[in-house]
Amino acid sequence: MNVGAWKTLMKGATRYANERKRAHPSSAEQWEVEPLLRDDAVAMLTTTPVTTPRLDACVAAVLLAMDGQMTARNLAHLEVDEVRDLRDGSVRVGGQEFPCDHVERMRGVPWDCTACAVRAVVTHHPGTGTLLAAAAGGDPVPAMSQRLSALRDRVWAGVPMDRSTSGWRSTRLTPGSALTDWQAAGFRRACVLIVGRRGEAGTWLRARAWTAMAWSCGFRMCGDLLRLSRMAVSADPTGAGYRIDLAGTKDDPRGDKLVVRPLAWGDGPVSVASLVAEYLCVRDAVHGRGGNLIVSDVLSRRDAAGRGVADGGRGCGGGTGTAKRDLRVLCELAGLSDRRYSSYSTRKGFAEQAHRDGWSVEEIRDALRHQTLGVTLNSYLAASAAKDVSTKLIRNLAGSTA
Ligand SMILES: [Zn+2]
Repeated sequence: MNVGAWKTLMKGATRYANERKRAHPSSAEQWEVEPLLRDDAVAMLTTTPVTTPRLDACVAAVLLAMDGQMTARNLAHLEVDEVRDLRDGSVRVGGQEFPCDHVERMRGVPWDCTACAVRAVVTHHPGTGTLLAAAAGGDPVPAMSQRLSALRDRVWAGVPMDRSTSGWRSTRLTPGSALTDWQAAGFRRACVLIVGRRGEAGTWLRARAWTAMAWSCGFRMCGDLLRLSRMAVSADPTGAGYRIDLAGTKDDPRGDKLVVRPLAWGDGPVSVASLVAEYLCVRDAVHGRGGNLIVSDVLSRRDAAGRGVADGGRGCGGGTGTAKRDLRVLCELAGLSDRRYSSYSTRKGFAEQAHRDGWSVEEIRDALRHQTLGVTLNSYLAASAAKDVSTKLIRNLAGSTA
């Protein structure tokens, strides 16, 4: 291609972009999207949900029930002076010893430690009275047991999730003996997250995984990911992490392009594979393996197991709002509440970041699955970046070394 042809192409693409903006003012918003760049993405993906003394007490109750086979009655009667901190980091509670144990049973899925959970309660404890109720300002067990009903009576491929048989007031949470490591890790993590209010922990979990998948692959949060089934993500056979199989998206309805992208463990501050592993493991424990990849309520099956964000997957109208809210949740936790990210920010930010990192425009085009360079330059790179790249390209085409 010679310089003249390139300039004509650029001119044409710019004119086309302007015409499209005029013709479709409603979609013009998409052109003004704030790109999500790496610094913000890392801050957002490394957030943890806000905790309170009451939440700490609920988490300790769940873990004591699970690891110590304690019932609601046992838990209610535990006194704070029955807790002993032992030298090796373990904790003795009511005659039972709980070691400090954070060893992941499934890579990427945090293993919540009972000893540390009990210690967190004691830290803010007034010092006398019951261990849990005095710390929580009221017995946390009944409300907690009710929330756990999302997992209660749940049977997975013929295997009960937990072996408790008494009524809803019981907190006897013993994982079913035939569960796989994946199921057992998901059951434990889900129990810990479910005790929070209004499913906030589920939103946080989804927001991180959804943003990480979209941002690291240059996907649209809605157009590319909302219609995918759970089965679109699988463990990478080489052990490198997970892989996502993009079929049936906006620009490839039949999945002919066989777009597969890796979700790697990585060695940076954020592991996309870990965020995906934690989300999927909990999602599967609550919803099973069926349904959508991105579910509308991670920690509850109230509507239907595996129900997607966009009301069954028709259109993305319901999804863009949820994506915006999820991004807002992460921004607020990261102290970035002034940002205005939307479901397109991941794709736009990917392009902009790749450009700043020195990717060639061809590499960016291929990553975004664009047919032509013109689309990449005009829709996804900021005007200055596009100019910069095209100037460089023109120079290269002209054979200049400057
Ligand atoms: Zn610990």
